[in-house]
Amino acid sequence: MFSVQIIAYPWDLEDEGIEHVLDVLQGEIGVQGISVVAASGPLCELRARPDASPRIFRSRGGIFFQPDDSHYANTRIKPILSRWLKTRNPIATIAAACHKRDMKLRFILPTRRIGRVADRFPVTVAKSAFGDASDLCICPINLDVEAFLQGLVTDLCQNYAPDSIELYGMDRAFETGVLATSADRYALGPGGEALYSVCFCESCRQSATRDGVDAEAAARSAGATLSRAIESGRVVEGSLEDLLGADRVLDAYVATLRDRHIEVVGRLSDAASCDLVLHVSAAADRNAKWLSRVSSGCARLNAEADIPLSESPDDALTFAHDVAGRRDDLHCEAQIPAREATFGDPPLAVQAMKLLVDRGVGGVNLDHYGVMGQVELASAKQAVRYARRAANIG
Ligand SMILES: [Zn+2]
Repeated sequence: MFSVQIIAYPWDLEDEGIEHVLDVLQGEIGVQGISVVAASGPLCELRARPDASPRIFRSRGGIFFQPDDSHYANTRIKPILSRWLKTRNPIATIAAACHKRDMKLRFILPTRRIGRVADRFPVTVAKSAFGDASDLCICPINLDVEAFLQGLVTDLCQNYAPDSIELYGMDRAFETGVLATSADRYALGPGGEALYSVCFCESCRQSATRDGVDAEAAARSAGATLSRAIESGRVVEGSLEDLLGADRVLDAYVATLRDRHIEVVGRLSDAASCDLVLHVSAAADRNAKWLSRVSSGCARLNAEADIPLSESPDDALTFAHDVAGRRDDLHCEAQIPAREATFGDPPLAVQAMKLLVDRGVGGVNLDHYGVMGQVELASAKQAVRYARRAANIG
């Protein structure tokens, strides 16, 4: 069923009073659910809510709920709480308030960029073909990371009974993030950037070796291609798929990582007692067959939509919608920024919603409550009213 949900950080709800905000969102704006960010990497949020204090919310990230230690016995990674949380646990209050008023509750869970885990547990980090260790991304192929992610999923399911959990970062089989803060990140072209993202951490290498793939030769090959581009100042021509087509050993290595990744997401789906949603970002691996297999245990895809909407096959929404269209049991939602550019003007917000309903998406996620001033909320109210009529929802 079509639904409109709004994404929110827990502190934005808590500051204004959880019951009050949910009253406004459900009663006045008319949204059917809320997606609460349960963990994140480093963030800096400029808050648009009236009288928000502090105006800028900075966090090194971490998890935004009190962990139940019994769920983390199988991993050496211990959950790192965001310092903002102290001893409080607002997610419990938010969950109880949602259940009481029959409002859908989703948790957003990043899987690669969880604040300070890479620093505190260096054995878990993703690495480039040259062995550069990420200061940002952990690798889900690492068994401790996989068990940690399973712990987070079961902890959230058992203690807060969400309707769904949305996994961020699982729309690609690897990410190292080693160039994320480099001014030169685009100098190698999309092919070079993609090649730098292929993970060669010890866990990935061991996993490939077990599959009979020569991981060391694959690393040497990727490194040689990158070195040629870096030293000559020329971009790496073509996409990752083009590169793989011309490099058998690297192709075999990437194929085995993609297969392992499908298994990791499958086991997360087994661990979850609620629906899983796969977030599809602009950085998703644009391999439709692979994404379909990764999401086989998921009920929904939530794809980031460009506003104004594009019909380009490069657009994450067009790609995800196409993948979901091949299966009866997989629905595609769209995520749109609820900032001033679209939601500063009610007719524009209604127009964006109309285009999404016409495209046949199964729901819309507004990103996010903390950046919405009163004008954006008024726009959201009209857009949601339009969607309720057009999609014929309760
Ligand atoms: Zn790895």
